[in-house]
Amino acid sequence: MTNDELDRLADAIARALQKSAGPWVQGPVRPEPSTPPAEPPAWAGAAQRLGDVAPVRHPEPSAHRDDIAAATREVRAAAAGRGGVTRTGGSPRAAAASSAPRSRARGGAFHVPIGISNRHVHLSAADVAVLFGAAALTSHRPLTQPGQFAADQRVTLIGPKGRIENLRVVGPARGATQVELAMSDAAVLGIAPPIANSGMLSTSTGGVTLEGPAGRVVLTRGVIVAARHLHLSLADARRQRLADGDTVTIRCGAAGRETTWHGVLVRSGDGHATEFHLDVDEGRAADVKSGDVAVVVGHAPAQRRARPLVTERDVVNLAASGGAIPPNALLTPSARDRARALGLALP
Ligand SMILES: [Zn+2]
Repeated sequence: MTNDELDRLADAIARALQKSAGPWVQGPVRPEPSTPPAEPPAWAGAAQRLGDVAPVRHPEPSAHRDDIAAATREVRAAAAGRGGVTRTGGSPRAAAASSAPRSRARGGAFHVPIGISNRHVHLSAADVAVLFGAAALTSHRPLTQPGQFAADQRVTLIGPKGRIENLRVVGPARGATQVELAMSDAAVLGIAPPIANSGMLSTSTGGVTLEGPAGRVVLTRGVIVAARHLHLSLADARRQRLADGDTVTIRCGAAGRETTWHGVLVRSGDGHATEFHLDVDEGRAADVKSGDVAVVVGHAPAQRRARPLVTERDVVNLAASGGAIPPNALLTPSARDRARALGLALP
């Protein structure tokens, strides 16, 4: 081929190329995305069932493990652009429980109102008569606990180091007189009462005198610093699966004074309204006041008290010393027979 022939061939090729509109080779074409697919494409990881990688032995939803099928659907929907994953874990049942606090399982946190107890005295009917010369107390205003009231009557409490005037009497009259103080009150009076549960006066102290308009009563026992406690209505106790005698852990107070109270005794039964009782010193320590909210964050069931075993020899010794068989005792059969023979009261 001569050079002229090569030139003519090149011209012919150039003319042919000018006639065609596009380039020699079609480039790759990116298809326009269609409307979002109903399901993600099969190659997407989200299309796989999570159960394929983590075998599901219990297909039913459980409170303790995720509902795999629901999680799969949710992840697929999120991948397909139909909303995000709205929760990070937990089964539908667990999610429902968290939006319905009243259905919480045993051990779940729940809220209770706080009541701050100022110093006060419960009086026996006999002491009411001595102090006020009256048959009964009269109500100044009702208290939260059903049936209880702050009485119109007040007394003066006199201790070895000081006195407290205008001590509120809480009615109605009880079987035994009981003075409930805060530690700071006890310091004013110069006495050291034990921390005790209301009504448990065996360890209480005395050494104070109550003075009313009609007379004086010298107390040899009955003064306590009431242990913090949680009153629960029967309905709330049932709902929270707590019982009288259980102990709970309660948190309250704002940042800076947030306080957790351990070993709080649960008191429940007829005539209890749900309220967490702290004394004035405790309330100040946590910077909370009556009506503030506390959170029960944990609980422990009541410890079963060991029942003392009483044998025949124990019965003979009790009879000789004039003692009585403890009311919760377990008696051996021979001890029971011996007790009957000796005329001891059986529990
Ligand atoms: Zn109380």
